[in-house]
Amino acid sequence: MPERILVAEDESIMRMDLKEMLMEAGYEIAGEAGDGERAVELSYRFRPDLIIMDIKMPKMNGIKASRIITRSLQIPILLLTAYSQRELIEQAKDALVTGYLVKPVRESDLIPAVEVALAQAGRIASMQQKMDTVEQKLKDRKVVERAKGLLMKQYDWSEEQAYQYLRKSSMDRQIPIGERAGEILKKQEGKVYQK
Ligand SMILES: [Mg+2]
Repeated sequence: MPERILVAEDESIMRMDLKEMLMEAGYEIAGEAGDGERAVELSYRFRPDLIIMDIKMPKMNGIKASRIITRSLQIPILLLTAYSQRELIEQAKDALVTGYLVKPVRESDLIPAVEVALAQAGRIASMQQKMDTVEQKLKDRKVVERAKGLLMKQYDWSEEQAYQYLRKSSMDRQIPIGERAGEILKKQEGKVYQK
C-alpha cells in the first residue's frame, strides 16, 4: 500500500507541483491544505504517514501547526522554507520536525527527503512497539513471581511446582501465563478481603 502524504502549502501552484512529484514517485495524497489550521484539522482526520508543511501560511504558520500535530500524533513532518527563513528553522527544531526542504523544491531533493522521513518514522514506531513488548514482559514476570510465591505458601509447593502449575493451567485455559497469574492473585486478594 502506498504511503499517504498530506501536503500543506498556501501557494496553489507549488502545492500542485508537490502533489505531482509525490504521485509520480508512487505516493498517495492523503489530503491538501492551504493554511495551518486546515493542516491540523486534516492531520487528525486523515492520519497521514507524512506531512509536508510550508512554514509561511495564513491563519496559522507551519511551525505552530506542527507543534499542535506532534503533541498527540506521531507523524513525521517535513517543513518547507525559503532561504531567508533561517531563524524559523531554529524554531522548528523543538517542534519535533523530522526535516526541512528549502524552496524551490526539486524532485531530486523531495523524494529522498520523503523516503528518509518515512523510514525514520517506521524505525521509531517499531522501536516503540518493542519497548511496549518488553514492558509487558516485565509486568508479566512480576505478576508470575507474585503468584508463584502465593502458591508456594498456600500449598507448600516448591518454586518449580508452583511454576509448573501456572504453566499448565494457563495452557489449559489457552491464556498467557501472566494473565493466569493475575487471575490467581485477584482471587486470592478477594479471599483476603472476605476474611
Ligand atoms: Mg507559504
